[in-house]
Amino acid sequence: MVKVSKEFALSTNQGSGDKARHNYIIIHDTANDTNKSKDSAKNEASYMKRNINGQYPAYTHMIVNDVAAYEVGEPGYVAWGAGNANYDSPFQIELAHVDSQVRFNKSYANFIELIRKYAKIYNIPLTFDKGKAGNRGVKSHYWVSKNIWGDHSDPFKYLEKWGISKKQLAHDIKYGIGKKTAKKATYLNTGNEFKVKAKYVNVYSDISFKQYHGKKFAKGSIITGNIVHYGSITRIKTNCGYISSNTKFVTKIK
Ligand SMILES: [Zn+2]
Repeated sequence: MVKVSKEFALSTNQGSGDKARHNYIIIHDTANDTNKSKDSAKNEASYMKRNINGQYPAYTHMIVNDVAAYEVGEPGYVAWGAGNANYDSPFQIELAHVDSQVRFNKSYANFIELIRKYAKIYNIPLTFDKGKAGNRGVKSHYWVSKNIWGDHSDPFKYLEKWGISKKQLAHDIKYGIGKKTAKKATYLNTGNEFKVKAKYVNVYSDISFKQYHGKKFAKGSIITGNIVHYGSITRIKTNCGYISSNTKFVTKIK
């Protein structure tokens, strides 16, 4: 969990006091490649806060990098980050720039985590850049420009620089990152001759694999046996005991 600092959060008399409708999470990058130190998020937040009473005040709800996230506008209220879409977005977040792949990976993970967290809070679907104006979900500033108002195209160019495609971004928004989805094991269902493809497979005396037989088949061994069912999966029964039928360990020859 990334730490959220309120050091530069706007005061109650600053920015918009209007509540936003819960339609879009809008995502940006800061587009400021001269600011990519470990304080890149902090610097952007500080700048927004300092300029809130200036001629062209602009701010979002949060800026994040690899080190920390900074809240500026209070989530739930309108922020001035995406023109005519502001009233439909209770949470706009910006990815601050960094200077290495390692730092990018961390900052990107934080970015995704916060997008998903606030989408959940406001019950906004985890779809990305889907449909036209009125289609609720997570939206890039680019989507806002194309479908509602404006001419910004962030954050794609910056993400691509570090190897994240639009497709990958949509996937990560939907499923999150960090939690590797374990590949589901597949088990052979037919066959009577098998070859060991892992370094080795253990032989067990019983089908539940509670009792190790003391023998193993090395990689490349050809084994005759037959498939037997064990609950929802299968095993291979050989003449000296049971081995796994997981396709990670064995392949079928015949
Ligand atoms: Zn933007």
